[in-house]
Amino acid sequence: MDKIHTNDIEFDQQHIWHPYTSMTKPLPAYKVTRAEGVTITLETGEQLIDGMASWWSVVHGYNHPEINQAMHAQIDAVSHVMFGGLTHQPAIDLCRRLIAMTPDGLDKVFIADSGSVAVEVAIKMALQYWHSKGKPEKSKLMTVHGGYHGDTFAAMSVCDPVNGMHQLFQGFMAKSVFAPKPKQGFDQPWDEQDSIVLEQLFATHHQQIAAFIIEPIVQGAGGMRFYHPQYLKQCRLLCDKYDVLLIADEIATGFGRTGKLFACEHANVSPDILCLGKALTGGYLTLAATLCTKEIADTISQGEAGVFMHGPTFMGNPLACSAANASLALLSAGDWQHQVASIESTLQALYTLSDHPDVADVRVLGAIGVVEMKRPVDTASIQAHFVKMGVWIRPFGKLVYIMPPYVISQDELLTLIQAIKQVIEFSDIWAE
Ligand code: PMP
Repeated sequence: MDKIHTNDIEFDQQHIWHPYTSMTKPLPAYKVTRAEGVTITLETGEQLIDGMASWWSVVHGYNHPEINQAMHAQIDAVSHVMFGGLTHQPAIDLCRRLIAMTPDGLDKVFIADSGSVAVEVAIKMALQYWHSKGKPEKSKLMTVHGGYHGDTFAAMSVCDPVNGMHQLFQGFMAKSVFAPKPKQGFDQPWDEQDSIVLEQLFATHHQQIAAFIIEPIVQGAGGMRFYHPQYLKQCRLLCDKYDVLLIADEIATGFGRTGKLFACEHANVSPDILCLGKALTGGYLTLAATLCTKEIADTISQGEAGVFMHGPTFMGNPLACSAANASLALLSAGDWQHQVASIESTLQALYTLSDHPDVADVRVLGAIGVVEMKRPVDTASIQAHFVKMGVWIRPFGKLVYIMPPYVISQDELLTLIQAIKQVIEFSDIWAE
């Protein structure tokens, strides 16, 4: 009984797993009582400007009246029904919207319940497609170093194998083929070397490769790097040449974050399979989607199994679909373009840090600002400094980065930038 009567923060630290945390050396926990617009309020009364958009997802800000209203209306109508044999308006509206707004050729939608599951679904689609086509030997995946696609097993098998997140599960994972990290940054001159290496890998392995999976333009959790659009074009060309499906994982980049509605648009590329998540519901609920071409869906459906082999309990949850519809309606109103462009221009101020002796690199694209330090920082102490300064920024490894809600004001954004500039001057922010 005693255990459940400890104070809330102690209880949380002792009994509740948080992402990538220790139960014996827990990070400080900050208890949130309210979130509105770009402001997160803690139980202690402190107010923090959110620089993380709850990991890329809260694009319109917290507690948005239009998303709230859509969800209230949906709760009164139907919160959930099984998607097997039943359907509903929010799912139909959502899939109409997604087909209309995503790159050409994506025609069929699988509504998944998280980003990692959307990636699992994409991989299963690719495998089942080749199986149905009578080529079951195409049963491996190809990807690039530096990528991140989620924490479930198939998704882990295409994450960077050396970044330390999933190494201990290696023995249990499928073996994928890895291309080197793209060398050229987003706006550096293009160098053919990257395509030569890629072509060699395709030529060697294509007979066993079902799909090439990649995060378009931005490698997110694997290092927050922005690579050259020509690289993605090259991937599309080689996939076509060698009969490999292209899976674009736009879970982080989708819905405007890079300055285009989808990052594929920087390279004018349409994938065969597209994974979406995070900002899909404006950060309200867990929901994701995997879109594919008619050809893939028809081939799977005409194959030996006759059906696509996946179907989660909460597939197509109406409440989550209604939040997504409201969020996508806000995006369609079009302000995001202006908002993201103005964030990108204010973030240029980060470049003054380029000459700082502890800073390795500064990168800005769309509503993403990254300061890469020369050595790893200590998340707990740097976060404590940020909280004292009234901002919410959570660095990892060597990366101090922000991707705020699109509705952030110029002043709020300048406060975030100023906090980053100040914090890197403190001496106790370095990991041991
Ligand atoms: N793919 C990418 C590119 C991601 O950034 C993430 C989440 N960081 C995922 C997949 C996994 O999504 P989720 O955390 O919703 O499972």
